Amino acid sequence: MKLLEGKIALITGASRGIGRGIALKFAQEGANVAFTYLSSVEKGMELEKELEAFGIKAKGYRSDAADYKASEELVNNVIADFGTIDVLVNNAGITRDTLLMRMSEQQWDEVMNANLKSVFNVTKAVQKPMLKQRKGSIINMSSVVGIQGNAGQSNYAASKAGIIGFTKSVALELGSRNIRCNAIAPGFIETEMTAALDEKVVEGWRNNVPLKRGGTADDVANATVFLASEMSAYITGQVINVCGGMLT
Ligand code: NAP
Repeated sequence: MKLLEGKIALITGASRGIGRGIALKFAQEGANVAFTYLSSVEKGMELEKELEAFGIKAKGYRSDAADYKASEELVNNVIADFGTIDVLVNNAGITRDTLLMRMSEQQWDEVMNANLKSVFNVTKAVQKPMLKQRKGSIINMSSVVGIQGNAGQSNYAASKAGIIGFTKSVALELGSRNIRCNAIAPGFIETEMTAALDEKVVEGWRNNVPLKRGGTADDVANATVFLASEMSAYITGQVINVCGGMLT
């Protein structure tokens, strides 16, 4: 029996990186996967085909998680197509890194909207179907930066810390209805983004991690599968750090 057999999952921001890794792992574990993207239309269409090859139902939606109305429409469309939603993974996120001295109001707002308001938008929309079926697992992608801060990322760190407060509050509000809400705090995860960086800089980062390597999308996806599955049935309101020991 696969860990997510027959479950219906919605994953935001799955065209690339960690979200894509989660979508593939979920499909491999038997989940039917609805996912979103914003600008990577071709990558979204390719992923839909890759996921279908696992013999599950998959569909990509172009939808801006930062937009309240669009998120409501997205959830309505997913329910029309799939019947319900058992698992929500709020993964979509962006960075607009710069020192506070240089940070514009726009850079602050863009990050807060894409990273934090998005989590409110989509969680609020899935609340109703999850309450109706009296079960659900919501998984929010935070970051170690939301716990320890990072120079040049005050907007990003604030959004990721906000996700943790939101996660714990939702867990308290919805626990009695058998709806769980947890966060994952990835550390340094090597994606397409980090592949473009100077190898020496990346090597320095790897050496600072107790496990002496950067994490992979698969490392984060494995923790996400656990939180989505019945293996974590008694776990809610928690933050799991997937950081190779960085935060120890
Ligand atoms: P990524 O490669 O840049 O991918 C981000 C994904 O989010 C893309 O699929 C993008 O879609 C989507 N997206 C961005 N804004 C969106 C919006 N408003 N609505 C819908 N989709 C949107 O990022 P990643 O490295 O995989 O990171 C994924 C998550 O993990 C983020 O929340 C990030 O903050 C968190 N995280 C990452 C790391 C790391 O080291 N990589 C560490 C800690 C936490 P398009 O391609 O269509 O724009």
